[in-house]
Amino acid sequence: MTDLNGLNANQLKELLDDLQQKYSTYQSQNLNLNMARGKPSPEQLDLSNKMFDILTSEDDLKAEDGTDIRNYGGLDGLPEAKQFFADILEVSPNEVLIGGNSSLNMMHDTVMRAMFHGVNAESEPWSKLPKVKFLCPSPGYDRHFSVCEVFNIEMIVVDMKNNGPDMDMVEKLVSEDESIKGIWCVPKYSNPDGITYSDEVVDRLAKMNTKADDFRIFWDDAYTVHHLTENPDVLKNIMVECKKAGNENRVYMFSSTSKITFAGSGIGVMATSENNLKHIKKLLSFQTIGPDKINQIRHLKFFKNHENLKKHMKKHADIIRPKFDLVLSKLDSELGSKNIAEWHNPNGGYFISLNTLDGCAKKVVTMAKEAGVTLTGAGATFPYGKDPRDRNIRIAPTFPSLSELEKAVDILCLCVQIASVEKLLE
Ligand code: PLP
Repeated sequence: MTDLNGLNANQLKELLDDLQQKYSTYQSQNLNLNMARGKPSPEQLDLSNKMFDILTSEDDLKAEDGTDIRNYGGLDGLPEAKQFFADILEVSPNEVLIGGNSSLNMMHDTVMRAMFHGVNAESEPWSKLPKVKFLCPSPGYDRHFSVCEVFNIEMIVVDMKNNGPDMDMVEKLVSEDESIKGIWCVPKYSNPDGITYSDEVVDRLAKMNTKADDFRIFWDDAYTVHHLTENPDVLKNIMVECKKAGNENRVYMFSSTSKITFAGSGIGVMATSENNLKHIKKLLSFQTIGPDKINQIRHLKFFKNHENLKKHMKKHADIIRPKFDLVLSKLDSELGSKNIAEWHNPNGGYFISLNTLDGCAKKVVTMAKEAGVTLTGAGATFPYGKDPRDRNIRIAPTFPSLSELEKAVDILCLCVQIASVEKLLE
């Protein structure tokens, strides 16, 4: 098939008739398919089932330092858990705080602490300021944006480029506006684009001058070990670069095992300077006596070391890579040469980000829904749910089976073509 932009009105109308007939056939099938959920599939969850009966002897109930894991204590996590995540995030164990079952929870609470108590003992709580703003590289993760909304933090859209956020824009904004207090980043296999920030972007984020002294980078490294290929992307260590630039308190890193072991029953973790941690731990001590140590030990006994974690992630990749390949090859064969859509080919993570012609995404998502395919809502990947160009659609291929996925992508591609032809006929 050729570039649709080269067809005349009659040819487009003829094509539209043909596409609409195919669409009606799907509509009559009463399908119920879902590509909206960025969740691991049951087969992926099965990979960690051994964790259910891993604590079998009395010895398993003691941590390395003798702590009884069944009892209270350990505000910032067991030492071996801190070491395990320090290795993953390439930081010191002294910079690690182990949380509960969710890193999003830790991000929310980090913003909340800054709102009510400031980012350190000296700085002013953000809630006392007339205005607080965050930079939101977009498309991005909708739940980051929801955290801003719930605290009435104004969100400023920053374009995502192929190597990370538009740094010219970021540097200009943070150097001029003291009310900009933060930026959301998913630096590796980003949600939804699947891109990894370049070294240059990491350097510039670490070094840039910010008008606000209490500016913070929320570095959500959720997909740090979630590679899909044998040649994983490499992300420069922002903590090291921040220290080199004299901005050691600038970054809060987050991650979790939600998409490594059990989604929603993993371990959340954050890492930041010892200085920042001191402030956080003091406030945290009012909130909890400590996170779930039984789950920490379960994870540590299951993985034992970093090598095993790598092997485990390869098993995940073996399950989900065929799903990514299927979606990508369908996009290529159905839309590839038609000049009506663009997408990224990610080396890892959980999503494929599809850009339609401007003004078509909402229509595509609605049409797909009417043919029985649920997609992430159009606009969800932008602050306030508003995609200024109405073109981004997030595809989550991990949960459905291959056969469900095949049909769902066929329908998606059909809807993209119909919406595009209608747009070209306008
Ligand atoms: N961060 C990103 C970028 C995500 O995509 C997700 C889940 O989709 C999360 C965080 C949620 O992590 P957790 O389960 O640790 O709260």
